[in-house]
Amino acid sequence: MTKHSIEPDDRGLVLPCPKCGQRNRMIYARLGQKFRCAQCHTKLGSPGEPIEVKTESVFDALAGQSTLPVLVDFGQNGADHAKWSHLK
Ligand SMILES: [Zn+2]
Repeated sequence: MTKHSIEPDDRGLVLPCPKCGQRNRMIYARLGQKFRCAQCHTKLGSPGEPIEVKTESVFDALAGQSTLPVLVDFGQNGADHAKWSHLK
């Protein structure tokens, strides 16, 4: 696992529950709503850190489906490549 525990894919953000470690997918269309762990029902907050997106298809899914503005960090040298998606 990398230092980024959140792994975006083309449907949502996959993040581990801080309590039990269960991996949960937070689908983009529901970002900003309340999520609970599927296993232990611990509340999962929206990610508060830039999300590292490795492929353009993931970015497109995130930017196109998220209901929140999302700061996306492309790769290691973040600042130069970070980009805001905009509310639709
Ligand atoms: Zn849990």
